[in-house]
Amino acid sequence: MGADEDLMKTKDAPTTRFGRFGGQFVPETLIQPLKELAEAYLRLKEDADFMGELNSLLADYAGRPTPLYLARALSRELGQKVYLKREDLVHGGAHKLNNVLGQALVAKAIGKTRLIAETGAGQHGVASAMVGANLGLETEVYMGEVDIERQKMNVYRMELLGARVIPVRSGSRTLKDAINEAMRDWAGSYETTHYLMGTVAGPHPYPLMVRELQSVIGTEAREQILAAEGRLPDAVAACVGGGSNAMGIFSGFLKDETRLIAVEAGGRGITSGRKIADHGACLNFGDEGVLHGAMTKILQDPYGQILESYSLAAGLDYPGVGPELAHLAEVGRVTPAVADDETALLGLRRLSVLEGIIPALESSHAVGYALRNPDALGEVSIINLSGRGDKDLATVMEHEGRVGR
Ligand SMILES: *Cc1c(COP(=O)(O)O)cnc(C)c1O
Repeated sequence: MGADEDLMKTKDAPTTRFGRFGGQFVPETLIQPLKELAEAYLRLKEDADFMGELNSLLADYAGRPTPLYLARALSRELGQKVYLKREDLVHGGAHKLNNVLGQALVAKAIGKTRLIAETGAGQHGVASAMVGANLGLETEVYMGEVDIERQKMNVYRMELLGARVIPVRSGSRTLKDAINEAMRDWAGSYETTHYLMGTVAGPHPYPLMVRELQSVIGTEAREQILAAEGRLPDAVAACVGGGSNAMGIFSGFLKDETRLIAVEAGGRGITSGRKIADHGACLNFGDEGVLHGAMTKILQDPYGQILESYSLAAGLDYPGVGPELAHLAEVGRVTPAVADDETALLGLRRLSVLEGIIPALESSHAVGYALRNPDALGEVSIINLSGRGDKDLATVMEHEGRVGR
């Protein structure tokens, strides 16, 4: 009950909060740019010309709508119907383009000439570089030094697309430090620059805006399942890093009875839970705290220091989670679940063999979870296939080598 009411409220007259979560916990220098962005976005999403341009790019550049595919062999194996929402077929190979297209168009509409973005493994950086090229916006991407070393291909991709990658040398030199640096840049550059956040995290309006831009996944999936089955699914499962692909598909079913399963990264397998963050499961094991401008569930030590997350899937390797998901989990509308590295690898291998689809390691968490917990999904379900696995082959090969397969 609570979830729906609050959600309706945010839709009609957006508040900055989702229950206890969300808000704008930022230095004063960021209040003005956030206010300008929120006002611009709320105005533009009601503007027919703006939405027309966005929808036309989503269709002709991104390749939407994506199919809802009945995975016959997987369904046979599980003895129940499982559909895949094929975000792996979006240009670039993942759902990320839905969000960056919308934000870049907002930026352009309000006269910005430069985009900045943060990236961990490089997927959001590549998506940002793609829209930067497409819309003629200068693009600079903050990336931790450690990640630059680990993700040479994506660094090269961004450079091919005309973006500049800025190495981040502070902290753990990974994603969370890249976000800090990008926010610092934005505080001094917002007159010309838009900060393109990659997920439903961060201060208002990002969680709201990114969820709405990704809600195209859920809107399509709801229509498609009704057309195919004449009924709603018993469950929808999606992997959760920051939570944008999950919120995108969940938003189509929030008012229904459909069970919404948020599959987080269990990493190397959780034993002691909270102290050692060898995982990325904030909804399951996180504490309440502030990260990157929002009150949410985070991985932290007893002194409030952010712990480093871990997952074999780079896109799930984030010590926070979107505040709206934290709220929906707290009020019981979203069911948090966990899949560890091995479960994800099982999902990747099985889906490849059964369906001829190699899923991203991130999406493989949801597939692996379904394979191990078919009862949680029911007779008819949808798994959000957030991306394709081509980018992960080196990681998978290395892992298989290490465990001697
Ligand atoms: C980035 C990424 C994710 C995780 O991000 P969310 O905001 O949680 O969706 C999941 N899947 C793929 C393929 C990604 O590239």
